[in-house]
Amino acid sequence: MRKNIVAGNWKMNKTLQEGVALATELKEKLASAKPNCDVIIGTPFIHLATVSELLEGSIIKVSAENCADKESGAYTGEVSAAMVKSTGAEYCIIGHSERRSYYGETFEILKEKVLLALKNGLKPIFCIGEKKEERESGKQNDVVKAQLEGSLFNLSAEEFSNIVLAYEPVWAIGTGLTATSDQAEDMHAYIRSLIAGKYGNEVAENTTILYGGSCNPKNAAELFSKPDVDGGLIGGASLKADDFKAIIDAFN
Ligand code: PEP
Repeated sequence: MRKNIVAGNWKMNKTLQEGVALATELKEKLASAKPNCDVIIGTPFIHLATVSELLEGSIIKVSAENCADKESGAYTGEVSAAMVKSTGAEYCIIGHSERRSYYGETFEILKEKVLLALKNGLKPIFCIGEKKEERESGKQNDVVKAQLEGSLFNLSAEEFSNIVLAYEPVWAIGTGLTATSDQAEDMHAYIRSLIAGKYGNEVAENTTILYGGSCNPKNAAELFSKPDVDGGLIGGASLKADDFKAIIDAFN
């Protein structure tokens, strides 16, 4: 059966020292109360090696927030999937809406990133979701379908089984507006039906689909109670150990 996961996305927050302090606090909190779900923290590149070492032996896994769409070479400032893997990180967030909108990441670019992440033994946490105007005009299903088809449905079933999906309606990210649990469930069930159509029921049932968008300690339990919502990708609330832990505890 698929895993329940709570994953943090620190985005461009925390100096190295602040990140180490947050990871240490979280490690201590989770050591005394074993969670009922897998826990991942997504950190900026500069934290990955230090935080991975710090969390060795703990239940918390580490994710990058991005990787390059090229293997290696003259791409100043980029960080390859192989480099991410060499830090000890096991996951890589790919296709976050901030990367799509601020850095022009297209379906094709994201397809390359996913292939390179998989090739280097990283599990992609692949983000999909519609913008406000797309939901208002009832296009959310078409948008999400195109995102899946454009960057993931080239994968074999075996490759796809390493993907974690995160449905993140763009209008809910960092806005305090959360999708209702029914809106999240409708979309997650639809996503699962698309996976079933492409790869069959077994792959679909085994795919973890996270919800992301202003998830917090107050709304997490309601969202996670839905059958197709397998946890959350958490931005703002992952920056405070108590809030992140409270979201993890929603699975208790
Ligand atoms: C995110 O950026 O992935 C996210 C879900 O952010 P927030 O929880 O702050 O809305």
